[in-house]
Amino acid sequence: MTLVERDLAAVWHPFTQHALWPTDEPLVIDRAEGRYLWTTDGQRLFDGVSSLWVTVHGHREPALDEAVRTQLDKVAHSTFLGLTHEPGIELAEELLRTAPWAGKVFFAGDGSSAAEAAVKMAYQAAVQRGEHRPRVVGLREGYHGDTLGAVSVGQSDLFHGAYGPLLLDVHHAGSPGVRAPGQTAVERAEEVLSELGAWMDEHGSEVCAVVVEPLVQAASGILTHDPSFLRGARALCDAHGALLVVDEVATGVGATGTFWAVEQAGVAPDLLACGKRVTGGYLPLSAVLATDAVYSAFLGDATSGRTFFHGHTYTANPLSCAVALANLRLMDARGTVAHAASLGRRLGEGLASLTLEDGAVEVRRIGTMTGIELAPLAGEDRVGLRVCRLARDRGVLIRPLGPVVVLMPPLGSTYDEVDELTEVVASCVRDVRVGRAPAR
Ligand code: PLP
Repeated sequence: MTLVERDLAAVWHPFTQHALWPTDEPLVIDRAEGRYLWTTDGQRLFDGVSSLWVTVHGHREPALDEAVRTQLDKVAHSTFLGLTHEPGIELAEELLRTAPWAGKVFFAGDGSSAAEAAVKMAYQAAVQRGEHRPRVVGLREGYHGDTLGAVSVGQSDLFHGAYGPLLLDVHHAGSPGVRAPGQTAVERAEEVLSELGAWMDEHGSEVCAVVVEPLVQAASGILTHDPSFLRGARALCDAHGALLVVDEVATGVGATGTFWAVEQAGVAPDLLACGKRVTGGYLPLSAVLATDAVYSAFLGDATSGRTFFHGHTYTANPLSCAVALANLRLMDARGTVAHAASLGRRLGEGLASLTLEDGAVEVRRIGTMTGIELAPLAGEDRVGLRVCRLARDRGVLIRPLGPVVVLMPPLGSTYDEVDELTEVVASCVRDVRVGRAPAR
């Protein structure tokens, strides 16, 4: 049996319609180097979505490989419950250096668990301040992961429509990234804030947290919004005693051209969830950065019930912490965040020639996070998928989110690599539009 046949016999993949899987011609990844992946049959592919928004410098980055190997010679895993270890401590210190407003780091496992832990913290902190705040505010088109709490806070008909009856009662404000024709980003931010403000005037005293993806609602198709929205959300939280929780799982660690997206709005949140790029794309690790004020609400004696009763088996896994530390230090040494900002501008220039005639309705981008929204093709609703399939044949691996083709190259990509990415993608958009692409 081939590897694909064995996969089909044994494996259930995420976000995959298995009735279509064999005709989707899955690729089998064999190895990687720098920003490229190789399949078992020898095809070289540029990693245009940084292996689902995680790879920072590249694959098999010597300093990161070395960090894992060095840690392996000490200990691969020990629990963080009641114990600690140097890589965990150093990583927390390093993360706090990136966020002067934060006082403590709570490690989780993946992005969903960090987002969910942040919501639980906000609720419990309110309870422990003696306040009854059982409600959470999220945004329409928000995405915070696939566990039920994270699903509840997010809103996506496509991803989460099936689970409605299982979800927490969350109020979803409008998406600041979904604008009416002719409406500016600032106008849309004001509109959502004014609607949310009116709702908060009635219910704000029951709200423990307002949860937002800052600047970019990534999984709903790189919906970008104006930084003024974050400042307004901060002001509403302050006015009503709610905590501002920012989910920087997708935006954080350089992707928007600043280390954290909130920096571009000059906003300090109460809680920040991060994951994905923290380990440079090597191992799973996520975290919640919390203010001292939130943290102190959890202090009490043994019988106070103030403990944060939350944790994951592999929380702060030493290998993950060691590689994350190496990643953050290398980012510092290389000036990766500044490079990502200029790489993003290059991406924008490379896609600037795409027009409505080519089928590109809008190109949205903040830093390196880029989405090309495509007009539907006549009688065909899988235009994004067709562009990505064609790009794959031309040596570039990208993924669609519905009609939006997403580009998110590793932050350490070179200008030449990004030029190759934009040239291939622009040509694929045009060729799919004019029917030069094979309809598979
Ligand atoms: N939060 C945001 C903003 C995300 O984009 C994602 C994943 O894309 C998550 C949370 C969930 O992260 P994970 O897939 O690691 O659980």
